[in-house]
Amino acid sequence: MKVTDCIKSAKGKTQVSFEILPPLKGGHISSIFNMLDPLMEFKPPFIDVTYHREEYIYKQRPSGYYEKTSIRKRPGTVGICTAIMNKYGIDAVPHLICGGFTIEETENALIDLNFLGINNVLALRGDARKFENRFVPQDGGHPYAIDLVKQIGAMNKGEYLDQNIVNGQKTDFCVGVAGYPEKHFEAPNPEVDLQFLKAKIDAGADYIVTQMFWDNENYLKYIENCRSVGIKVPIIPGLKPITKLRQLQSIPRIFHVNFPNDLVKEISKCKTDADAREVGIEWTVQQSLELKKAGAPVLHYYTMGDVSTFTAIAKKVF
Ligand code: FAD
Repeated sequence: MKVTDCIKSAKGKTQVSFEILPPLKGGHISSIFNMLDPLMEFKPPFIDVTYHREEYIYKQRPSGYYEKTSIRKRPGTVGICTAIMNKYGIDAVPHLICGGFTIEETENALIDLNFLGINNVLALRGDARKFENRFVPQDGGHPYAIDLVKQIGAMNKGEYLDQNIVNGQKTDFCVGVAGYPEKHFEAPNPEVDLQFLKAKIDAGADYIVTQMFWDNENYLKYIENCRSVGIKVPIIPGLKPITKLRQLQSIPRIFHVNFPNDLVKEISKCKTDADAREVGIEWTVQQSLELKKAGAPVLHYYTMGDVSTFTAIAKKVF
């Protein structure tokens, strides 16, 4: 089922979804199942699986020189989606990024998804690679997520890159895109960022999943702002609890987000990671209950492989 149909069929009841990462290369699918088995109790209608572009690493050679090599540490997004759909009979949403793909490779990836019966995609641009200070698209690839949304939209109309194809099979993808309640860090201001988000929706995206946030006011205000510029699609809040003391610094640095003062004060009083995790779980539980009350269609949890934390949260919320 498409994500938008899952939302419609829930008739206003808030649902839960989880986002997982493929295991590191060399890992086994059982690690995914071990993680998801306990979460199935909460009946997520779909599971998101992230996509990881290749990274550059520098290896020192015996001569002392460094050699730049490119590796993909977490391949397997599409295979994992298929395995999830087969094992649990629920939907899986692969993330597809612009980075690292030519438009032909993107088309081929979408054809594979279509043949596998996967009709949900979260369409993203991707970030700059390590050692690059800005996002660089692949030669012949898309520079922005909107271009990916447009390509998927064309395939949904039966239009392929090869213009000799007439009466091409129409795919039926439901397309999600990312939104940033605190603004995407590269956007010059929130208004411009919102216009680019609106453009993704006008290009055919069906729903939005937000970047993680810890202040519900930001999400509620964001919804208001989106509605005021004519964005009508569902906006799914993304949530992630703090579970370690060091995340007070690392999360804002990596994800360009802010923590509210009250949360910072509470975490700063903690002596150990275990104490911080308790505070983080309680904060996310309260956030989730409030968002449920406010009518959020789905609560989307960024698990990052940490099952026990999300089982503890979901038990109190669903
Ligand atoms: P875009 O919508 O293309 O926006 C990128 C920036 O460009 C923004 O500042 C926007 O305002 C601006 N912009 C947009 N269009 C234009 C235009 N036409 N001209 C000029 N500026 C423009 N990354 C991964 O690598 N793998 C994942 O699996 C993954 N999953 C994610 C899931 C969620 C829910 C979220 C919120 C993010 C995820 N990311 C993932 C991170 C994402 O790739 C980064 O946040 C990236 O920096 C931006 O992606 P985007 O799709 O929002 O880009």
